[in-house]
Amino acid sequence: MKKYTQEEWENICRRCGKCCLIKLEDESTGEVYYTNVICRYFDEEHMCCSVYDKRCELVPGCLKLTPENVDKLAWMPKTCAYRELFENKKSSIKTTIKGRVIKETEISEEEIEKHIVDWEDL
Ligand code: SF4
Ligand code: SF4
Repeated sequence: MKKYTQEEWENICRRCGKCCLIKLEDESTGEVYYTNVICRYFDEEHMCCSVYDKRCELVPGCLKLTPENVDKLAWMPKTCAYRELFENKKSSIKTTIKGRVIKETEISEEEIEKHIVDWEDL
């Protein structure tokens, strides 16, 4: 992969918000299920993380994407701009999560499984 400046790397993101959806993993199969519930720190109005600089401290499961790990995150949405870049694919799907999610603070932990959805455009 070519070398990117920090700014170039950040600008690849198309702010779809799909990576900030809460995911559930079936421990026996390793299968990952996406929900329509979004991280409490996602700012849906501006379509960005509201705690970007501290995201990895505040949300242990929030990983920092880098050119070195982008190929190792199999659960990243298929339409993620970084994944497409790594896989050398261009998808025509440019949808976002805007208006299609609820915040994790709006539901209880027990309810989360009821929010598993099939995001056809993920
Ligand atoms: S902390 Fe920010 S980047 Fe991480 S999942 Fe939440 S909203 Fe997304
Ligand atoms: S899924 Fe990829 S392109 Fe979309 S917001 Fe997350 S990092 Fe950016």
